[in-house]
Amino acid sequence: MQAKIDWQSVASSLKLDGRAFIGGRRVAAVSGLSFDCISPLDGRKIADVARGATADIDAAVVAARAAVEDGRWAGKSPRERKMIMVRFSELMLEHGDRLAAMETLDMGKPVKYSRNVDVSTAAHCVRWYGEAIDKLYDEIAPTQANTLALIRREPVGVVGAIVPWNYPMLMACWKIAPALAAGNSVILKPSEKSPLTALVLAELALEAGIPEGVFNVVPGFGPEAGSALALHMDVDCIAFTGSTRTGKQIVQYAGQSNLKRAWTELGGKSPLLVFADADLDAAVKACVGSIFFNQGESCNAPSRLLVERSIADEFVQRAAALAPQFQPGDPLAPKTVMGALVDEIQMNTVLGYIEAGKAEGARLVTGGQRLRVETGGYYVAPTIFADVSNSMKIAREEIFGPVLSVLSFADTTEALRLANDTSYGLAASVWTRDLNRAHGVARALRAGTVHVNCYDEDDITVPFGGYKQSGNGRDKSLHAFDKYTELKTTWIKLGAM
Ligand code: NAD
Repeated sequence: MQAKIDWQSVASSLKLDGRAFIGGRRVAAVSGLSFDCISPLDGRKIADVARGATADIDAAVVAARAAVEDGRWAGKSPRERKMIMVRFSELMLEHGDRLAAMETLDMGKPVKYSRNVDVSTAAHCVRWYGEAIDKLYDEIAPTQANTLALIRREPVGVVGAIVPWNYPMLMACWKIAPALAAGNSVILKPSEKSPLTALVLAELALEAGIPEGVFNVVPGFGPEAGSALALHMDVDCIAFTGSTRTGKQIVQYAGQSNLKRAWTELGGKSPLLVFADADLDAAVKACVGSIFFNQGESCNAPSRLLVERSIADEFVQRAAALAPQFQPGDPLAPKTVMGALVDEIQMNTVLGYIEAGKAEGARLVTGGQRLRVETGGYYVAPTIFADVSNSMKIAREEIFGPVLSVLSFADTTEALRLANDTSYGLAASVWTRDLNRAHGVARALRAGTVHVNCYDEDDITVPFGGYKQSGNGRDKSLHAFDKYTELKTTWIKLGAM
């Protein structure tokens, strides 16, 4: 059995190095500037982080391009790349406690989840793409007998990845793992709110044998380092996860520069539909557990609960009764299930939405306030609003915090109309014992992922991504290779034997 870990001491023994990682080594920003990394646990500064900008991105692109040109990585056989990726994943697990404590200190999630969810799934992701790469075959097209048309996948070259702060390591690995396995060089720009673990990943990748220059990390602010990367003329592909607002800019940057491939994984306002014949116990638990997981800072959180009118009051009462189980606590305490929001700005945004809900006439059933103020950190109570209408701000906009908006419907037609009346289309869930209804509703929902009688089922083998303004392309699964490879056709004319 694993010994009990004293997370406070792991956290206080961390050496937090905020310098960029370019060409295989740690470097300060070219400008010499840095910014403060603040822990949301208590509002204290924990590190200085290099404030990357155009010059740093230029240096990273030069390093990444040199690696593409001389084939130090893409030129290795898929089997060799596999072995190195597997070693990279093992190193992540070996450094799991350190990475978990760092993730928690940096972005506020409970260490229980940083260790058992974020580190484990991120390491598994790296391993899975490594193991996949020497099992993929290319194609020969069924053309005439006197020709041979080979259809081969080639790496796109230099990939820029820009990621958010809600699952810093995991979102990074969803991009870097397939991109690296496919033989690309990568420049990762982590969120300025959670830059620390990405920098350690680059060190571990080098230690595992990924050659210098192949995996670079440049921290910095979006409009500085992020835009420089997305606008760069020598970056071949930009893979973005973040808000829909920034995603729209990313696509424009691609158009303004070299028309690099632009992939966007964006926000959501996912509906969870509960019909009166559903298993209510299971539905309530899944709904409450999913909206409050990760402090509600999940792109696919079921933030709109649509419940059949005849059971709406009972459902809300049951959900409110479970909410206290998610009271925020010290994120470094092993039993805590809800931690701090990522920063003061995000906390104030969430509190602003709560005020908007009240002002627009929704009924505050539970929560609604800041908690643990004495710590200096950014904690908000699990919050439920009932009697919400779909025109209210708390039903239309992504709150990205522990706030559930409950709407009711009369029948399947109204349920579907409300569910699809959103600019987003990331995920959805339907709860019913009626098999025909489950299938019919699942088909009619405009969302990249639909769950039936469950929520947040997750596996690296399954694609993840959005319809509508939740983005394009898919992370995870073998489909992710489509984003990081070009299809090349080679025609060969065959003569007589
Ligand atoms: P954000 O858009 O503010 O920032 C995301 C990243 O983009 C950060 O690294 C940021 O520095 C960078 N950025 C910001 N402005 C930029 C610019 N002008 N040019 C280039 N880069 C820029 O989003 P966030 O607040 O960090 O993350 C939360 C959002 O991410 C939510 O909307 C959430 O739904 C979404 N998200 C989506 C998925 C998914 O897979 N669909 C997964 C996780 C999070």
